[in-house]
Amino acid sequence: MVNQNLRTTDFDHGVTAIDTDYMRPLLDASHLVIDHGRAAFVDAGVNASVPLLLEALRQKAVDVGDVDYVFLTHVHLDHAGGAGQLMQRLPNARAVLHPRGARHMIEPSKLVKGSEAVYGKERVREMYGDITAIPEERVHAVADGEELVLGDRRLTCIFTEGHARHHYCLADPASDGVFTGDSFGISYRDFDTGAGEFIFPTTTPVHFDPVEAHKAIDRIMALSPNCLYLTHYSKVTDLPRLADDMHRRIDDFVAIATHHAATGNRTRAMQDSMFAYLRDELEEHGFTADERTLHELLDVDVTLNTMGLEHWLDHRVVT
Ligand SMILES: [Zn+2]
Repeated sequence: MVNQNLRTTDFDHGVTAIDTDYMRPLLDASHLVIDHGRAAFVDAGVNASVPLLLEALRQKAVDVGDVDYVFLTHVHLDHAGGAGQLMQRLPNARAVLHPRGARHMIEPSKLVKGSEAVYGKERVREMYGDITAIPEERVHAVADGEELVLGDRRLTCIFTEGHARHHYCLADPASDGVFTGDSFGISYRDFDTGAGEFIFPTTTPVHFDPVEAHKAIDRIMALSPNCLYLTHYSKVTDLPRLADDMHRRIDDFVAIATHHAATGNRTRAMQDSMFAYLRDELEEHGFTADERTLHELLDVDVTLNTMGLEHWLDHRVVT
């Protein structure tokens, strides 16, 4: 039976974006990489995404036994929430994690608690359901620079901090691309205009670190890729401009935070300021929409980014 909810985009070199159907269309992607009959997923969405990922495999005529890896760029639940259930369906796959993230998938209780602190208990249940643990023997904690073989290609894990301390990117020379998770920000396809792609940082709590976030951009660009595959959402190509925009917007987000550090009702002030900032930048980019549509597209990120920036304000070492 064809799953009506399945939305995929095929790119060259055996890369396919699968919409995980999290929150709204074209918000959260898992990428499927197929090389000489062997397959890997990069990020896994949430539990509800698992049937879609399996359906995408079936459409590509790849057996579940031929999936070698589930690469989890980091353990935020929109990337790794569905990984435990997905692994149960892939008998030969290893889950590949940053060493700081590995223990959280083997024993997810702390991860769930962390997410509850951000969203509240009820909302976490609603969004993610029960998080299934991955058996320790199926988890591979990678080293920075480690290469893994998939079919005829080599994928290299590159540690990147700034968004999360348990984050890595996956360089894929075969497609001249890098799977960047959240390390190179968010670029929703909704915001594409004649001027190209629009990008902004994601400063989700609790690890946002602007110095490391800048380094991550530089580290990714140093690989000289032709394209990036973002989890939110998929392929972008105008990289030198997007890198500049990321650097500038990381600084602008930090400026919004520090400007309001001592403001009464700081949360609201920062949210309003970030929303206005993104609206103006989008307008500059040639994207206009009514206020309601803009809120629908931006509010989740504005809220999360503000929380992360506030956490950073409260824990930064002021020199
Ligand atoms: Zn994240």
